[in-house]
Amino acid sequence: MSEQPIDACMEKIVSLCKRRGFVFQSSEIYGGFNGFWDYGPYGIALKRAVERQWWLYMVEKRNNVVGLDSSIICHPKVWKASGHVDRFGDIMCDCKQCKTRFRVDQMPDPTTCTNCGSKDLTPPREFNLMMKTYVGPVFDEEHIAYLRAETCQPIFLDFHSIRIATRMQLPFGIAQVGKAFRNEITPRMFTFRSREFSQMEMEFFCADEGSMEWFEYWRQERWNFYLNVLKFPTEKLHLHPHDKLAHYAKAAVDIEYEFPFGWGELEGIHHRGTWDMSQHQQFSEQDLQYLDQTNNTRYLPTVVETSVGLDRMVLAVLCNAYDEDRAPTQKEGMEDDVRVVLHFPATIAPVQVAFLPLSKKLNQNAQDLQAKFLGRYRTELDVTGNIGKRYRRQDEIGTPYCVTFDFDSLEDNAVTVRERDSMAQERIPIDNLRAYLDEKVLD
Ligand code: ATP
Repeated sequence: MSEQPIDACMEKIVSLCKRRGFVFQSSEIYGGFNGFWDYGPYGIALKRAVERQWWLYMVEKRNNVVGLDSSIICHPKVWKASGHVDRFGDIMCDCKQCKTRFRVDQMPDPTTCTNCGSKDLTPPREFNLMMKTYVGPVFDEEHIAYLRAETCQPIFLDFHSIRIATRMQLPFGIAQVGKAFRNEITPRMFTFRSREFSQMEMEFFCADEGSMEWFEYWRQERWNFYLNVLKFPTEKLHLHPHDKLAHYAKAAVDIEYEFPFGWGELEGIHHRGTWDMSQHQQFSEQDLQYLDQTNNTRYLPTVVETSVGLDRMVLAVLCNAYDEDRAPTQKEGMEDDVRVVLHFPATIAPVQVAFLPLSKKLNQNAQDLQAKFLGRYRTELDVTGNIGKRYRRQDEIGTPYCVTFDFDSLEDNAVTVRERDSMAQERIPIDNLRAYLDEKVLD
């Protein structure tokens, strides 16, 4: 059940994630469970911070997008209407020699086993990715239900309840963050393709007229998010228009990121027309039209969607942040060696400010100082090892600021603030520390 080998840079990131408790395999003591991952203390801090930035950007800083947190299991008819029960699958085949299973679209040569080279393969067949469960006391066909394969379907179902409750009028959006489940044939590349993952989706409901302008608007907004919030360099991103459009779609584009293993889809921006609403109207036999009071017309809203995997975004953030440098570090009490550093933007770093007493005798002073900032920033008190080693540890988890309390601090009521990327140190009066850090760390 262990992961397939991946390239050297990814291996370093995976091993750092495990060593420092960002992400590790689920059920490790049982040999792991392929496609499922656990986020440790730094991992969940990072993941929540990234999610918070998305929510701020997509919901709280706008007046035309509202939120939803729907159930993971919906009425099974939902997935019939959406097409997932009948069509949500990949074509796969098995190698009869080594028993490896492949997605045919991912095989460089679909007649030869990528693992052992055998040509003795089963014929390609469809494999549905929906995860099934039973709801109720009887385990039979009638009681089958599905774990949602995407978070957007409940948004369509709740559109009218939300519209009525909030008095929103078109155009407006509904956003949701939550778990999705897909029985992926080949989970791979660490968390890139998992069987359980979180999605962050926003469905924007509008009239058909003008919907392409909204598509362009959201494409630009999402692009800007990667540049301005996550600080990804432009050359690591590109837009990939879909070669083949779904029959109902007017336009679709992916934002791709250059991972160490190659370009991979981060996010999709899709013009879905009225497809979803009309499917649910047909299957539920309810009138799902919107009454447009501006011109007294009734129509099914057109939908523009932005859809991204939170885990995939966090993986891109980790890959983008990972760096090894050879800075002259003797002044920090270390040999001139390789420094592993995660250059997270301060807003999403799992620890934003670490407090380091220079000597054990100052532990209480550093702890008292940290106490003033608990709940304001994500902080850590780091007391063990020499100061150079502690800086290195904080670099490795991406802490942008280390505050060192030394013996002079008792006299001058000031501390040394060390910045991660430049390793520059600055003496700051304790009375000014909050203003100094607020400006650098808060959103
Ligand atoms: P792929 O082609 O990679 O299977 P998709 O086109 O099926 O992805 P969508 O259904 O559009 O993806 O899902 C939207 C987003 O959800 C993707 O851009 C990705 O970020 C995320 N996502 C999809 N499947 C997975 C997965 N198995 N693990 C992690 N994230 C995923």
